[in-house]
Amino acid sequence: MILPERIVSILGEERAVERVYENGYTCPFCGYAVLFEQAPVVTSEGYEAHCGNPVCPAGPTTVAAARERIAAWKEERRRREEHEARLRAMDARIAWERERRAAELAEWRRLADEEGYCLECLSRTNGRRRVRHKTYAH
Ligand SMILES: [Zn+2]
Ligand SMILES: [Zn+2]
Repeated sequence: MILPERIVSILGEERAVERVYENGYTCPFCGYAVLFEQAPVVTSEGYEAHCGNPVCPAGPTTVAAARERIAAWKEERRRREEHEARLRAMDARIAWERERRAAELAEWRRLADEEGYCLECLSRTNGRRRVRHKTYAH
């Protein structure tokens, strides 16, 4: 057992260990008597908790719960951002497609008005058939 000189809470706050006894020390955060054989406690996340009190900011349960909440919150934020990015990409794609279509229609209209091509044939064949009919008949 190594006596920690300072204890770090889940928020990163450090406090010096001042009261040391033969069999343990007092937690500088909560005043809990930590026995040498009980601490440090290594949690499943690998965190070294120097206080055994589960509701202490330097305690193992608090740390594990806070980490879980933070991880869940980050995952939730990541998903939301991904979703928003997908929506933005879709909006951009729709806007681009609408612009392209408008430009295409404008070009067919110009071909019809200025060059005398049949607008109906242009639009029906997606711009491939360019004809000038002598009489209006298809
Ligand atoms: Zn404590
Ligand atoms: Zn035509």
